[in-house]
Amino acid sequence: MDTIIEPFRIKSVEPIRLTTRPEREALIEEAHYNLFNLDGDDVMIDLLTDSGTAAMSAAQWGGLMQGDESYAGSSSYYRFEAAVRDLMPFEHIIPTHQGRAAERILMGIVADEDAIIPNNTHFDTTRANIEATGAEAVDLVIEEGHDPANMHPFKGNMDVDRLDALLQEKAHRIPLVMCTITNNSGGGQPVSLANLKAIKAVCEAHDVPLFLDACRFAENAYFIKMREEEYADWSVPDIVREMFSHADGMTMSAKKDALVNIGGWLALNDDAWAEAARNQLILTEGFPTYGGLAGRDLEAIAQGLKEIVREDYLAYRMASTRYLGQALTDLGVPVVRPIGGHAVYIDAKALLPHIPPLQYPGQALAVALYETGGIRGCEIGSVMFGRQPDGSEEPAAMELVRLAIPRRVYTQSHIDYVIECFEDIVERTRELPGYAITHEPEQLRHFTAHFAPIDA
Ligand SMILES: *Cc1c(COP(=O)(O)O)cnc(C)c1O
Repeated sequence: MDTIIEPFRIKSVEPIRLTTRPEREALIEEAHYNLFNLDGDDVMIDLLTDSGTAAMSAAQWGGLMQGDESYAGSSSYYRFEAAVRDLMPFEHIIPTHQGRAAERILMGIVADEDAIIPNNTHFDTTRANIEATGAEAVDLVIEEGHDPANMHPFKGNMDVDRLDALLQEKAHRIPLVMCTITNNSGGGQPVSLANLKAIKAVCEAHDVPLFLDACRFAENAYFIKMREEEYADWSVPDIVREMFSHADGMTMSAKKDALVNIGGWLALNDDAWAEAARNQLILTEGFPTYGGLAGRDLEAIAQGLKEIVREDYLAYRMASTRYLGQALTDLGVPVVRPIGGHAVYIDAKALLPHIPPLQYPGQALAVALYETGGIRGCEIGSVMFGRQPDGSEEPAAMELVRLAIPRRVYTQSHIDYVIECFEDIVERTRELPGYAITHEPEQLRHFTAHFAPIDA
């Protein structure tokens, strides 16, 4: 059989409120054309993020009832620790309330004004937590990673020559090297095991530890199985173990590839760093056997880690993202390729060439998707990155709209509906207006800015 089915049945459902197009036009106007201002109830298909939006399994919900809420020494912590260590064999496993808390604790220990932290591409919270210490965050993804049309199978790879050159010159200022799997900011693109090994070899030569920002480790492992010949016959858990065997630590948002709605961890081998991390943890998160989480959350993570590495799940996951990306490509909608693991990124600049970058083609497409079908995506372009520290504006490198796919939440007919909305939009791209910003805060303006359509 060729059809890849959702490898689950639905036991519990959440109704979607169906809205009409005139209703949506009124709602988005009231929201000042900013999709972050919409009530979740007014969204039919929410593709804003894949973070914390997964559907948990019956076994995870069952696990919640078994959470041990002991303040110290909770048995749920030990089950969580064993589940993490089964895949990621680190000495110290420190739970946190989400990924950025792990980043803040780690950077608080290792970084200062003199420090430089390289990565393939820093995720925005990672970069912000590095910069908050005064340190510098450097992105070293390979050249192909910047080209939306390039079909390189591992566009998340790090440029090892540039890493080596940086370490040759400044290793004394580099407390650790990071690598993000998959590379979220670069379109959910994977990193190969060959690249991880090469990064580790360079790090070892300069005696600098390697940490993985591992939010989508299972999707990355599945890409390795599919695209790196040497590992085609390996099981996914074995590929995961091999990936982490080349690292000295990791930060994790369990809201991605641990199939839960909240959680994270920091794991590492260095005893002194771990002791400092636990001291920080007690200050702002909680006792080391619960971090920022309840015992029941730790149970849900432990079970989620068993489910996320199942090949039937990963085959379905990749197929469903690819299905949307391929359908859009067939419609002539330009998307970032190859299709990444967790999202489809649409090149709004190429789709709407009549809208100049500073009239925000990504925002124009995001608003049109909402009006047309009640679909919520996320602009990643000049709205998000265009404002300069001095208040002036520069166009971003790309004008993208991200459609992130929550894990196990939508069925194929939901996605077929999204595709149908695009069929409608591609017929009338020239009619879509650009937008002006009528109100904006000084920082992170995309969350709260107000917009108004520009009359053509
Ligand atoms: C989501 C994410 C983070 C931050 O995790 P939160 O749980 O949202 O705090 C860090 N890095 C990457 C690559 C992410 O996708």
